[in-house]
Amino acid sequence: MCARDILIRGTVQGVGFRPYIYRLAREHSLSGWVANQKDGVHVRVEGSHEALEAFTSALIPDAPPAAHISALEVKHAEPSGFREFFIRESERTGRPTVRISPDLPVCDECLAELFDETNPRYLYPYINCTNCGPRFSVIESLPYDRCRTTMRHWSMDELCDSQYHNPLDRRFHAQPVACPNCGPHYLLEDGDGVCYGDRESIDRTVQILRAGAIVAVKGIGGYHLSCDAANAATVQAMRERKFRKQKPFAVMVRDVEVARRLVELSPAALDLLTSTARPIVLAPGRVQLAGVAPENSELGIMLPYAPLHHLLFAFGAPEVLVMTSANRSSEPIAFRDDEARRTLTGLADAFLVGERPIARRVDDSVARAGVFGPAILRRSRGYAPDAVGAFPTKRPILAVGADLKNTITLVVDGQAFTSQHIGDLDHYEALASFRQTLKDLLDMYAIDPTKLTVAHDIHPQYASTLTALALPAQAHVSVQHHRAHVASVLAERGEWERRVIGVSFDGTGYGEDGTIWGGEFFAGSLRDGFTRVGHLRPAYLPGGDAAAAFPVQCAAGFLTDLPGLPDLMEAPFQFPGRYRSATELVCKRVRTFSTTSVGRLFDTAAALLGFTGEITFEGQAAIWLEQLAGDTKCDLPLFDFTLSDNVLDFRPMLVQMARDRYAGAEVRDISRRFHRSLAYATARLVKSLSEDHGTDIVALSGGVFQNELLLAELRGMLEQTRLTAWTNAAVPTNDGGISLGQAALAVANVA
Ligand code: ZN
Ligand code: FE
Repeated sequence: MCARDILIRGTVQGVGFRPYIYRLAREHSLSGWVANQKDGVHVRVEGSHEALEAFTSALIPDAPPAAHISALEVKHAEPSGFREFFIRESERTGRPTVRISPDLPVCDECLAELFDETNPRYLYPYINCTNCGPRFSVIESLPYDRCRTTMRHWSMDELCDSQYHNPLDRRFHAQPVACPNCGPHYLLEDGDGVCYGDRESIDRTVQILRAGAIVAVKGIGGYHLSCDAANAATVQAMRERKFRKQKPFAVMVRDVEVARRLVELSPAALDLLTSTARPIVLAPGRVQLAGVAPENSELGIMLPYAPLHHLLFAFGAPEVLVMTSANRSSEPIAFRDDEARRTLTGLADAFLVGERPIARRVDDSVARAGVFGPAILRRSRGYAPDAVGAFPTKRPILAVGADLKNTITLVVDGQAFTSQHIGDLDHYEALASFRQTLKDLLDMYAIDPTKLTVAHDIHPQYASTLTALALPAQAHVSVQHHRAHVASVLAERGEWERRVIGVSFDGTGYGEDGTIWGGEFFAGSLRDGFTRVGHLRPAYLPGGDAAAAFPVQCAAGFLTDLPGLPDLMEAPFQFPGRYRSATELVCKRVRTFSTTSVGRLFDTAAALLGFTGEITFEGQAAIWLEQLAGDTKCDLPLFDFTLSDNVLDFRPMLVQMARDRYAGAEVRDISRRFHRSLAYATARLVKSLSEDHGTDIVALSGGVFQNELLLAELRGMLEQTRLTAWTNAAVPTNDGGISLGQAALAVANVA
């Protein structure tokens, strides 16, 4: 008789882990127990040496699909003589550091039951089991038990209760377990009144969707606004009511077959689409759906993930549904029923309301199968709140991120948890959501705020900075935006010592000299910090960050005093009057700032090639410019993007671009050459810096690196010079990754 004590860490709560251990132990005729404790799942097993070996070696390979084991510790122990194997109740002491599982899509077994007439949960929109269903979006506090989830309002009937308590059942300790007899239901509210009953309300929803209605549909982490994507008039109405001019809408498609008709699905994109996170996947479009993604060659698609979505399609909903966050303009997604009714009246024709409350808003995630593998552009449902990195510190650290695309990172016991996407904090609702998420994270992990090290941006007027400074923390650490971008790449890879060259290209960030940065080169490491060793040549920026809305306004700054430019007010450029007035601002140095932003350089290039109007969503001109290049051949000559004293000078390139266009060159070729020239100049500077600083690793981060064409060019050129490029994978390369980088630089306090 031998015994082992085993500790399993990782995402092991709420994913069917204890019943799995129970079944595995019984299979191997072992006695002992399994329990959730504050640091993970503890197992005591007793039996023959062979059986213990077999049990231990099967533990990881056979684990439930939603479990993520980060560490397994096995110790020999003295047998206590247990006669059977049992599941011990959760311990309630100490700080919970076990991880909370992200929400999971409905599993195949539940899906089969959903459409099995003989099953008690036939057509029941809240079907789930330990392998699937909501987690993060229903958990109110830890440890994860039904009484601390939004399912506490419903008591289980005999069927659910017996399954919940049967270790051999798929629903053993499935906290959100429910059936039509005891659980919550859906109902439909429209102008005619309320339609009760799951089937009746879903059936009616499908009818009105087919007739062209816009329906607010309650899902897992919030409400969607849904309509028939093939109905151009309805899609247009949605744009008008939402005040959303051109920003693409995401669509939900019935199945993979429909997805293939809509977009080109590479094997990597298919993997992302069907992954347990079920993100919105951006892929090249094959057909145009009028008004869904205007003038955009990519389409964002996702598969059904909640049982409700499968029911909508099974009841005959249009096979492609617009499914966009229910909100006005860029406010946060509505997730409470009263809030949805209040803010969406006049926007939605009807409300398909589910009775189960949502504990916190969790938007759909957005991802793309990119040059460097899967790239997460918005990290939310299905990913949050998984840990994104292991930190070499026991101190609790809170990092509040940037004011755009905000996320918050909390480091607890050496694990970095990055929050779901919160949004742009200039909206009152988003700021409220930011404060709520901050409190939520600290409560969830039972952190005393006075013990925290709090990291924030150096921007003195950021709402996130002001909130951070008001916290009664032990220490505050101020982190420059672009250093945080570079740090995020290293933090998620656990590279705490490695010296790298960091390249941070983005739209805007507060520089340590008070100017607007966004084209920065650094040398250093997470341990020693980063020194700025190169940058884009500073340009004027009339109107400051407000210029980001008008590419011609950026152009006025970047093109100041350039000899040899054709007249941009004339054909083929035809810049509007705004260009002239912005030029006057620059001449008089009125409201004129200095910037090294590569994002604004992209805007200038876009203006020169024909994007002379207003931008209606962030990054629009840069996306337009990238798509303009399409798949043109890359044997075109480079522009002169010159380099002196580690400063990249864009001026000769911009003059050549303007002259080429004036001379009648194809704009798509000019766009391609622009991308290639920027990549080449960047690679050249990185190469020389890497020699100066003795490293062959380059970390790329910042919103500009969402540009796949630039990444592809740059990657190729860096590889030719034997440099290895790293970029973000766990967190977004845009400002959604800033909080992780801030936290990383707070560890050694080298910001
Ligand atoms: Zn299931
Ligand atoms: Fe940024």
